[in-house]
Order: sequence, then structure tokens, then C-alpha cells
Amino acid sequence: MNIAIDGPAGAGKSTIAKKLAKDLGYIYVDTGAMYRAMALYFLERGIPALDKAAVCGLADGIDISILYQDGQQQVLLNGENVNDKIRREDVGNMASAISVYPAVRQKLVALQQKIAKTADVIMDGRDIGTCVLPDAEVKIYLTASPYTRAKRRFDELKEKGEGCDLSAIQKDIEERDFRDMHRAASPLKQADDALLIDSSELGIDEVVEAIRKICRERQ
Ligand code: C5P
Repeated sequence: MNIAIDGPAGAGKSTIAKKLAKDLGYIYVDTGAMYRAMALYFLERGIPALDKAAVCGLADGIDISILYQDGQQQVLLNGENVNDKIRREDVGNMASAISVYPAVRQKLVALQQKIAKTADVIMDGRDIGTCVLPDAEVKIYLTASPYTRAKRRFDELKEKGEGCDLSAIQKDIEERDFRDMHRAASPLKQADDALLIDSSELGIDEVVEAIRKICRERQ
């Protein structure tokens, strides 16, 4: 069984998918991390997202691979483990900017589909239910209000001791969502057969239990 979880930034997809994967013994595939790794490649070389020819020309040759250490996904960029480098806000914004290009998407979608062929997966992203795993047995569209999502990110950064501004984070998130929802190539949207869960007023365990219930019904 494959489980697809899509939704905007900060809706809680990865926290919930990780917990579910552990409970169910599935592999968790964080597809955003792959877009982030590719974004890091361009950021480190000073190639701007707007340079479509350079980004699309290089995308296919960039070596991105995934491995699992103690059940945790590790992303390798040209052989280097970049898990710790890809969580920055600038990397997230660059990922959103380059993910509009079909050449970038084709490369990463092929990798994602290859992983899903090898095991039962819980995969999260923006286009999993609509494009990457259209036959997934369970599809969830997880969202929350922009304020809730920004506040979660703000609390996360504060806990790490990083200075940040709540309204700037909300603005960033709204811009990223707008771009993700309005791009021509595989925009973020709820698949026709996906179930909508709004996590604004729900705790992690409540969302996990709701999805587990859906999985039990589909088995
Ligand atoms: O999920 P995360 O915030 O790590 O994703 C970073 C960016 O990568 C998203 O804003 C989106 O533009 C892009 N992305 C995508 N398709 C996916 C996963 C992520 O376009 N399946």
C-alpha cells in the first residue's frame, strides 16, 4: 500500500508522515528534500532560479540519491550528505523557484517513482497524489491556515535559537504556496480522490489517528 500526503508548506506533512511510517513500518519519502538538494546545488554555484537555460540544462546531470540510516532519510547531492544544509529558508525558497521547471520535476519524479516500486511508502510533497503516485491507495491533502503554519515554523526556529519574524515567515509561506499552486507543471492541488484534513485545530496524534483509520478501512 502506498500513502500520498500533499499540502502546502508547514501543514505538518513530514511530522505526521514520519510518525505514520514508524507506526506502520513503511518507508517515509520526503520529496521536498530532493527539490531542496537540487536547489542547494544551484545556490552553491550562484546560479539564479531565473536562469532557466542553466537550471534546465544542468538538472538531469545532478546526482541526487537517497539512503536510509536508522529509518531516517538521508539525501546525497553528488555523493555528499546534505541533510543538515537543506533546511534553511533560502533553500526552501530556491526549491520552490526551480520546481516550476519540467526538467527539474522529471528528474526527481523518476527517482520518487523508483523508490515507491521497491517498498510500501508514505510519500509527502505537492504532487504525489496527482502525479507521482496516482494509484496510491490512500491520498491525503493536509492543510492548515497560513497563520497556523507560520506560527509552527516560528516556534520551530525559536526552539533552535534562530532569530525570526513571524510576519516575515507568513509572507514567505504565502508566496511559496502561491507559486506552488499556480505553476503550470504539476501545481499543488488536492487530487480528486484525496481526503482533505485541516490540521489548524488538530494535534499531531489526532491527524495520525485519522489517517490510520482511513488506512485500516482501505486494507
Ligand atoms: O516540502 P518542502 O517545503 O521541503 O518543499 C520545498 C519546495 O519544493 C516546495 O515549496 C515546492 O516548491 C517543491 N516541491 C515540489 N514538489 C514536491 C515537493 C516539493 O514542487 N513533491
